[in-house]
Amino acid sequence: MNDPRLEGTEIADSVLDLIGNTPLVRMKRISELEGIECVLALKAETTNPGGSSKDRPALEMVLTAEREGLLKPGGTIVEPTSGNTGVGLAIVAAQRGYSCVFVMTDKVAPEKVSLLKAYGAEVVVCPVAVEPDDPESYYSVAERLTNELNAFRPDQYSNPANPQSHFNTTGPELWDQTAGRITHFVAGAGTCGSITGVARYLKSKNPDIKIIAADPEGSVYSGGSGRPYLVEGVGEDFFPAAWEPELLDEIIPISDEESFLTARHVSESEGILIGGSGGMAVAAAVKVAKAAKPDDIVVVFNPDSGRGYLSRVFDDAWMANFGFIRECDQCVGEVLDTRLADIESLLYVNPDQLVSEAIDLMRTNGVSQLPVCKNTPPFAAAEVSGSVDELELMEAIHGDPDVTSTTVDKVMGAKLPTIGVGQKLERAVEMLESAPALLVLSGGRPLSVLTRTDVLTYFTSNANTSNPNTSKGSQNG
Ligand code: PMP
Repeated sequence: MNDPRLEGTEIADSVLDLIGNTPLVRMKRISELEGIECVLALKAETTNPGGSSKDRPALEMVLTAEREGLLKPGGTIVEPTSGNTGVGLAIVAAQRGYSCVFVMTDKVAPEKVSLLKAYGAEVVVCPVAVEPDDPESYYSVAERLTNELNAFRPDQYSNPANPQSHFNTTGPELWDQTAGRITHFVAGAGTCGSITGVARYLKSKNPDIKIIAADPEGSVYSGGSGRPYLVEGVGEDFFPAAWEPELLDEIIPISDEESFLTARHVSESEGILIGGSGGMAVAAAVKVAKAAKPDDIVVVFNPDSGRGYLSRVFDDAWMANFGFIRECDQCVGEVLDTRLADIESLLYVNPDQLVSEAIDLMRTNGVSQLPVCKNTPPFAAAEVSGSVDELELMEAIHGDPDVTSTTVDKVMGAKLPTIGVGQKLERAVEMLESAPALLVLSGGRPLSVLTRTDVLTYFTSNANTSNPNTSKGSQNG
């Protein structure tokens, strides 16, 4: 649409014309602090109108669908999205007259739901803890709504317009902004649209440019089995269409803890507010940049802003509860330290083990309850599915002696309340008034079980000397 009245002005024709052309900024403070000699620069995708890199594929997917006749005037768009793609689609939909329904999991930060609603979209929230083929899963719900509403589903995971948008725009921008001297590109991979599109473009210009994916520990890209993690928007439990490992020179797994602490560190030291996946990408980029030559230019892709994560990554109470930060000196961890002499790992039971095995484990170790955890250690907090308790088991077996030969998941009770290893002991005491035991988290993972006996023993013994006798009470209610 060429309106002659705009000629010679700097008035963009619509918000869609503001997508892309994001700035590249040097990370000078981080480089100084980390002893990095090369140029480390951040591609700041927050200046897109929707505040994230996802505006680019959103626009490309809608324009392609219009060209292909998949989206008719006044039509509806349905997409399962962690938020950023939803914002991009909502912006494009607003400009081009479509309605939007977004399907999200309950892992996503609540402010992201409010944000999509603010753009006039409808949001459906589904549980994260179900299998993809469960009718409640966000994949299944999106499928059903697409059919019911006769809607267009962009499916960012399989739509070639997603990587294509980054091939068309992000790649050329990076090449031009570095005067063709970029040597390394580091990005988190979610749908893989950004990394694949950029990689294909940059390698077409110079095949020696190294492409490095940052991946949450547990995700399949770095060899995990798709076990849960807390960083949002990146990593996967399956391989999407844009996964092209031959374009990647290296994949670096990064823990939730390192991702979140890096996001906070970058925000504080550079004045660039970034989210958890940006923190993950920067953590990987710092490792790459430390090993790079002084003349190299390492670019890290920052997909969105920390503003979307104020109630999580940037909330001290949330971070402390997962054991990512310490609140105090006299913390829960100190109680554990006094008794860890012979309790090195978490005692747990799998949901498919027999109740009799759980009883044996409790009896052998003299404990009164066990968390029920899926898989094998190290567990993610999301892999804890419940707990078994001697009192509840005793009652169940009293009612029906055959309970001992059923599986734990049939009889388990609620999950133990969680407390971070760096939270105040005072808080543990408060919580133990209503629960016999607490699950202690460190770095987002279950570390141990803290009982009333543990705290009592700590208070009555010399807290600063490790007394092996104090370990007797561990997990004992
Ligand atoms: N970080 C965040 C917060 C995201 O929403 C996404 C997109 N899912 C990514 C990173 C990864 O981008 P891509 O899907 O292009 O791999």
